[in-house]
Amino acid sequence: MTTNKLTWLENELQSLKDQGLYNTIRTIGSAQGAWIVVDGQRVLNFCSNNYLGIADHPRLKAAAQRAIEKYGVGPAAVRSIAGTLEVHVELERRLAAFKGVEASLYVQSGFVANQAAIAPLVGKEDVIFTDRLNHASIIDGCRLSSAKIVVYDHGDAADAEAKIKEHLPQYRRGLLVTDGVFSMDGDVAPLDKLYEVCAKYGVISMVDDAHGEGVLGRGGRGIVDHFGLHGKFDVEIGTLSKAFGVVGGVIAGKKVLVDWMRQRGRPFLFSSATTAADTAACLAAVDLLEESTELVDRLWANAKLFKAEMAKLGFDTGKSETPITPVILGENQVAQQFSRQLFERGIFAMPIVFPTVPKGTARIRVMISASHAASDLEQGLEAFQTVGKELGVI
Ligand SMILES: *Cc1c(COP(=O)(O)O)cnc(C)c1O
Repeated sequence: MTTNKLTWLENELQSLKDQGLYNTIRTIGSAQGAWIVVDGQRVLNFCSNNYLGIADHPRLKAAAQRAIEKYGVGPAAVRSIAGTLEVHVELERRLAAFKGVEASLYVQSGFVANQAAIAPLVGKEDVIFTDRLNHASIIDGCRLSSAKIVVYDHGDAADAEAKIKEHLPQYRRGLLVTDGVFSMDGDVAPLDKLYEVCAKYGVISMVDDAHGEGVLGRGGRGIVDHFGLHGKFDVEIGTLSKAFGVVGGVIAGKKVLVDWMRQRGRPFLFSSATTAADTAACLAAVDLLEESTELVDRLWANAKLFKAEMAKLGFDTGKSETPITPVILGENQVAQQFSRQLFERGIFAMPIVFPTVPKGTARIRVMISASHAASDLEQGLEAFQTVGKELGVI
């Protein structure tokens, strides 16, 4: 008997639907902001990473337009052949200064930054110590390196030390890697303790600050600044796609490290450069952050207010220490239903289910932004209260 060799895909998709795990992707018809058009409907936006609300800032747009006039649209080359533009070099200099490191390398995305950075540092003879809840791009970056991967308990520096003691002697080199802010729970890695452990055992230290950049530290200078650990983490990964409101990733640290990445980072060598328009918009975002802490301050004020009110309403918002506000609901179907009912009330907040979060901890993840007005937060809270009661969650 011959069966269609792709029939299994239909079965798999149906099974996802049956379990409430099928991700229906909505389509956006406007610029990002507190209010956006989703599937043709104008709704209050509670789920984008536009922390500072600058994804449609006039200065970023103007910078991108000027760059298009000067450079055109496509880079037409990888960075290492003919694709390194003056704006790339300028952005790298400015990002290094902003983060207080010697050098930085701007790559196509934060995901790509992790693909680029890990393999040049560790290989078959080496070992990686990685937090259980690290981002998928770190997990994939680790796999690409062929190093032995040892997982330590989430946020647990003592367990990281125990694992290092046990495994490091069998290998040539060790690398410890952690998210700075964990994106599904909003908790922060114990960077000071992890640094001490790495220093004690001579392990290379790496932190991915995707959700900390533009959020934590003085004027949004990130998690290393938040902990006052300048120059101590060997590799700092960042993204320009979240608080910075544009797109791209960054690998930052000592000059010698960044020089090595330029020689060995495969996505840097084998995938075309980021466009001039994106790069120029990133430069304008750095300008904004360096000029004033106003946006970062407003982000935190909004986040504190929203989280405090949600707790008063009786929602479980986990252990977030950042503007990421998980509203933990448990079962996938409840989270899906909650999101649909919010949408009917004009609130856009997507459910997050397994495998993005562990089974039984399905949630709505609310992303607070500096662009939310007080009335937006009020409207959001009201809708959460109504739907929470309708579904018997509170
Ligand atoms: C979002 C995220 C990334 C990916 O960044 P992009 O610029 O969107 O590719 C990488 N690491 C972490 C920890 C993230 O949260």
